[in-house]
This record gives sequence, structure tokens and C-alpha cells, in this order.
Amino acid sequence: MDQLTQFLVENPHIHYATAHSSDFETLRAGFIINETKTPAVVVRPRSAEDVAALIALLSKSSLPFTVRVGGHDMFGRSQVADGVTIDLREIAHIHVDTESQTARLGGGVICMDMLTELQKHNMTTPHAVTPSVGQVGWASFGGYGMLSSKYGLGVDQIVGATVVDAEGIIREADETMLTGIRGGGGSLGVIVELTIKVYPQDQILAGAIFFHPNDLSKEIIQFNAEWSKAKAGGIPSSLHLYQSIMKGPGGKALALFFMWASSDLEEGQRWLSKVSSWLPVAMSTVGPTTNKDFAVMLNAVIQTHIYGTVFTLNLYDLTPEVLEIIGLYAQKQPNSPHMLFGFHELRPDAPRDPTMDTVFDARCAHFVIEIVPMASSLEVLAEGLVWGQEFYNALRKTNPANILPSTYLSLTPTKDIDMKGIYGSRYETLKRIKEQYDPQNVFKQALPRF
Ligand SMILES: Cc1cc2nc3c(=O)[nH]c(=O)nc-3n(C[C@H](O)[C@H](O)[C@H](O)COP(=O)(O)OP(=O)(O)OC[C@H]3O[C@@H](n4cnc5c(N)ncnc54)[C@H](O)[C@@H]3O)c2cc1C
Repeated sequence: MDQLTQFLVENPHIHYATAHSSDFETLRAGFIINETKTPAVVVRPRSAEDVAALIALLSKSSLPFTVRVGGHDMFGRSQVADGVTIDLREIAHIHVDTESQTARLGGGVICMDMLTELQKHNMTTPHAVTPSVGQVGWASFGGYGMLSSKYGLGVDQIVGATVVDAEGIIREADETMLTGIRGGGGSLGVIVELTIKVYPQDQILAGAIFFHPNDLSKEIIQFNAEWSKAKAGGIPSSLHLYQSIMKGPGGKALALFFMWASSDLEEGQRWLSKVSSWLPVAMSTVGPTTNKDFAVMLNAVIQTHIYGTVFTLNLYDLTPEVLEIIGLYAQKQPNSPHMLFGFHELRPDAPRDPTMDTVFDARCAHFVIEIVPMASSLEVLAEGLVWGQEFYNALRKTNPANILPSTYLSLTPTKDIDMKGIYGSRYETLKRIKEQYDPQNVFKQALPRF
């Protein structure tokens, strides 16, 4: 710690906070209140050079350290108790190149800021549903979102990276390192800049639809029967839905985030009418907007700090057995404002550049189930935890042939991480890449852990 203190004294441009600093609590806080660990110090480097100097120092010391950006790891794994948090949020430059259709993002860029900058150029890129998530942390572990069907996953947008490696050297990632970053996140080094693909896009049709809550079990089955029929008949890649059960204006209801990612708004309206005809609609906010404005709307309604956790598993299909359980636990879902059930869908035709290798293994069509008990107090959370655990157990007991061996790393509690299951056929490749770039496991606190 003495060396770090000396370093911070010699580098007064680097802001840092300890338990005695007035902004410590603000800088330390993550999305999930109950999982955030208390570091000894939060250090905010302003450049790749600052990060390099820090890693050179920390890699030789016994101080544990982590990297943090949006603080949205559901299990607080971007902080380590009594260690050093390298908070990258001051490395937040965004350079858009409309000609090459790429953008260079500082390692600390938050999704909302990226979308705001891209919109100035009438561009967009896949991003998390929740705009306060850090873009690098979202993209480099997989990256599911409302633009997955049109442009692919977050990992598939990564075309370049600048990394501070285990020796504290700033390097441009070569193809091997990029393969590891695409799914292996920050396990190879601190990503101080990411170059991603961006796409021309202006007006879209997007918003939330809440259906009338009458008989949730039946509604879920009915809606998914229609959705499956529509998919079998062929749906445009511009259409993407995120289904959830959450509290709406008329109480707990089946709710959708609706995305039509094309400026052909007439065709989008036709799909909106179709989707809205499957069940009686209680409220809809869907209308012409932009990705950025849709994100602003979401940002306004989503909490930034809350008690909670997540239970997750990946399913190949929403079989009748699965839908029955979802219906049952939708009814049991505590009727408080922040409890959430939802799922991301990766469709079989989601685009992917065959020339870009990744270690992200879950490429078949599947659903990422998210059972998310959240509450503004621990008392309310307790009820949600019972619901979430029972719901998860019931899904786990469904036909094993319908459950993927992989789970989404970002949402998987550390105790349940099965590296071979998650990385599947890519596990040995990731292991080899880790051995090549971080043989001493300097980034031992990073995800995934070896
Ligand atoms: C409310 C909420 C909504 C979410 N929505 C989605 C969604 O729609 N789709 C989806 O796929 N996932 C989603 N997630 C999961 C989320 O994408 C991951 O947890 C992601 O890693 C969070 O990144 P962060 O920077 O916000 O969090 P942090 O906790 O700051 O970081 C998460 C991990 O990424 C590492 N990391 C972040 N940036 C860097 C970097 N520049 N260099 C090295 N390592 C880095 C950290 O060390 C840490 O291990 C959501 C999570 C929450 C809590």
C-alpha cells in the first residue's frame, strides 16, 4: 500500500478516494447494493499510461485489484474487499468513424453516453437493454440486447482493442488476444480502448407494451404460441422482443420491450399491430424514436442502486413444460415494483462475421432466462429470493436435453461457474490464450477466473 500511496502522491492528476473521502461511497457503489465489496481505495486513471503504471506497480505487490466501469456485475465482482478498484470511468472518449463504420471507445464508456455520441452521427450499435451498463463489460462477455437479431451479439462487434497487459505494457491486441477478449472479457488485461462496429441508423420504432393481466399463465402460453408461429413464418431481423413479467400500470403483467430497428416505420407498424393483437394491451409506449431516445426513456425508469440478485440458465426452447413453469411462477412473483422475470432470445439467424473468431460458445438459438429478485429493502428482497430460488429449481428440473451446458457468465454466481460448460468447445482455446498473455494470473480477480 505504501508504494501505491507514493504513486498517487507523485501523480496528483489521478483522482482517488479512500473510506475518508467524501465521494468514496458514490464512487464505490455498484448496481447491486448487497453485493458490493468495500475496497481500500478507488483509483481513477485518466489515460492508458496511468493504467499501465498502476498495473506495473500492482502486479508486483500483494494488493488484490479489480477493474470497474458500470458496476453492473450482479455479484459485485468488480470490487474486492480491502483491495484496489481501478475505476476506468474517466477513460471515456468516443471517436466515431462513419467511413469505416467503427467507433473507438475508452474502456470506461457507459452505454448511454455511447448511444448519445453515436446518435450525433446517425449511427448505432448493439448494446445492453439497461443503458447504465459499461459497454466493454457488456460486449466482451457476450452482450445480448435488442439489436442482437439485426447486428449480432456484443462480442461480434469487437474489431480491435488496446490493452494494458500483465506486465503493465500498453499493446494493440493481435488476433489471438482479440479472440480471447471476445467472450473472455478482462481476464487478459485491462481493456483501455475497444474498437467496435457501428451501423447507420436514425429513426426506429421502439417502446414498452404492457398486456392486461387477466390470467398470466394462459397469457404467457398464448403469446408464445403466436410468437413461435410468427417466427416459423419468417420474421424480419429488425424485429426483436424482450419478454418479461413486471409490475405495470394494472399490476403484475406480461410486458414486452418492442424493437423495430429499421427506418421502414410502416412495416414496423404492421408488426407492432400484429404483436399487439395477440393479447389485450393495457398500455403501450411504442412509437417512432431513436436508439438513444429509447435508452433515455429506459434510463429514467431503471434504478441505479438496488438490493438484488439473479438466477439464470440457458434453454434451447420454451417448451410447453417450461412455459407452464414460467406461468406458475409468474403468478407467484412477488407483486413489488422491482421484481423481474425476463429473457433474452438469441435467434438462429442472428448475424455473425465468420472471419472473427471468439471464445463465446453459446451460438445456437437459445433463451437466456433471467429471474431477478430486486427490492428497495432487504426485507422485501428476502421474499423475492425464495421465489427466485424455487423458480430456478423448477426450471432446472425440466427436461435436461432442453438446458444448455452453458450459462451466461455475467449472470452466473461464482459458485455455479462451470468454465468447461460456459466455454464448451472454446474452453481449451481460452485457456491457451490466458496462458500466453497472463501466465502468472496477474488478473486473477477478473472474470472469468482460472
Ligand atoms: C441492470 C442490469 C442490466 C443488464 N442488462 C444486460 C443486457 O441487456 N444484456 C447483457 O448481455 N447483459 C446485461 N447485464 C449484464 C452486464 O452486461 C454485465 O454484468 C457487464 O459485465 C457489466 O459491465 P459493467 O461495466 O457495467 O460492470 P462492472 O461491474 O463495472 O464490470 C463487470 C466486469 O467487467 C470487467 N470490465 C468492465 N470493463 C472492463 C474493461 N474496460 N477492462 C477490463 N475489464 C473490464 C470488470 O472487471 C468486471 O469483471 C445487465 C446487468 C445488470 C445489473
